[in-house]
Amino acid sequence: MNNIFDSHCHYDDHWFDEDRQEVLDRVLGKDSAVSFVNHAATDVDSSLFGIENAKKYPNFYTSVGFHPENVDTLPENWLGKLGELYELAAATGKLTAIGEIGLDYHYEGYNRELEIEVFEKQLAFAAEKDLPVIVHSRDATQDTMELLKKYKAKGVIHCFSGSAETAEEAIGMGLYIGFTGVLAFKNAKKALRALEKVPMDRLLLETDCPYMAPPPFRGQRCESTMIAQVAEVVAEQKGLSPQQVCDMTCENAKRLYGIDR
Ligand SMILES: [Zn+2]
Repeated sequence: MNNIFDSHCHYDDHWFDEDRQEVLDRVLGKDSAVSFVNHAATDVDSSLFGIENAKKYPNFYTSVGFHPENVDTLPENWLGKLGELYELAAATGKLTAIGEIGLDYHYEGYNRELEIEVFEKQLAFAAEKDLPVIVHSRDATQDTMELLKKYKAKGVIHCFSGSAETAEEAIGMGLYIGFTGVLAFKNAKKALRALEKVPMDRLLLETDCPYMAPPPFRGQRCESTMIAQVAEVVAEQKGLSPQQVCDMTCENAKRLYGIDR
């Protein structure tokens, strides 16, 4: 298998501290099954990490943005900061999206009002720059979908955990759906039912690494090559070969993220 596009990864995670360079050199190397990776930024430092590596590796692309779990530690004038990060990333020619942004009502002590405010401002920013968004939504489906509609957002709902109905609704809104290694877990019935509603031209594959490693790597540190396991699950349901799934999802990611090469 080759031509893997990991549409959402976090190589800035501390789990990669010891050998990050080695992992990226291997994952993005000439002999790798991986053609492209897209870094999903979560805060200022994470956005800068993406920009730095987009300059360094030809096949490394990046978003910039603020994750809902980071709204409590936003810098002063965070929206101005987002504008600066946008300029820096755009200058590399490899800025893909504003993300990951969204709503997370799962973690303890979350601040719903603040999350909504930060999400809305970033949705408006993306619309103004005509960029897609990478959406994180956990235990917040209704609010997320309402705001995506309000801003006529284009983009991807990443690590999709919603119902088949929500998948259908998102597809109807022109959005893409991203699936992780969770799709290959034994108890993935809900995700598989959602996958049934996603046409092949709207599907993205992602690791969300270092987490969510698919079997037989479950619990281990995940990396972009493990998307092969997810492609096999999709291939089985859609009646395609795993290679066809990699090729089609790679084209989808390139289309969404505006990569023409
Ligand atoms: Zn993520």
